[in-house]
Amino acid sequence: MISGPSGAGKGTVVRGLLERRPDVVLSVSATTRPARPGERNGVHYIFIPRSEFAAMRERGEFLEWAEVYGNFYGTPRAPAEQALATGRDVVAELDIQGAQSVKRAKPDAVLIFIEPPSFEDLVLRLRGRGTDDPETISKRVRAAYQEVKNKGQYDHIVVNDRVEDAVEQLVRILEQAHK
Ligand code: ADP
Ligand code: 5GP
Repeated sequence: MISGPSGAGKGTVVRGLLERRPDVVLSVSATTRPARPGERNGVHYIFIPRSEFAAMRERGEFLEWAEVYGNFYGTPRAPAEQALATGRDVVAELDIQGAQSVKRAKPDAVLIFIEPPSFEDLVLRLRGRGTDDPETISKRVRAAYQEVKNKGQYDHIVVNDRVEDAVEQLVRILEQAHK
């Protein structure tokens, strides 16, 4: 379970992990938020309307779900359980509420916090990504202060300074989880 402030580089390091470990299955979350430019349905997220999200939730089709920044996000149950049943590792990116509910359901889940080297870096990354307006960026940075305060709840903390180093740490954490 990968969590951390928006803009810390979770998507970037997860892509790096999947390049190093193509056997790992990426859980694609469903969300009601609109797609950002360049995001593809079924790849980055499954983009669905609120009504469909509510129906899936009612049918128990999410392993966990949460409301983040006014949008709903959920981890589809079936793909993750199928992958785990065949002995593969699943990596999922989700907020702390989601990570903790997965941990309750699956106690051997490993919670990893991706931290930016500094808040200055976080702001620069969010600006550089060019996907959020200034108001959204300040909302995300304020939320980041809170998230960093709670990082003690994680099994591992990875500072994403250089992408390659952060990916290397993720590979090691995965290996260690099987010992
Ligand atoms: P998240 O998924 O946590 O919201 P992203 O993976 O989208 O974050 O990264 C946010 C921005 O920061 C992107 O533009 C990305 O290219 C950049 N970025 C990610 N990791 C690093 C890094 N280690 N150093 C510099 N820039 C980075
Ligand atoms: P973003 O809109 O920037 O892609 O994601 C916003 C937040 O939602 C991030 O903290 C991300 O980790 C979280 N998130 C993404 N998918 C899920 C999910 O399936 N479940 C939960 N609980 N949070 C998610």
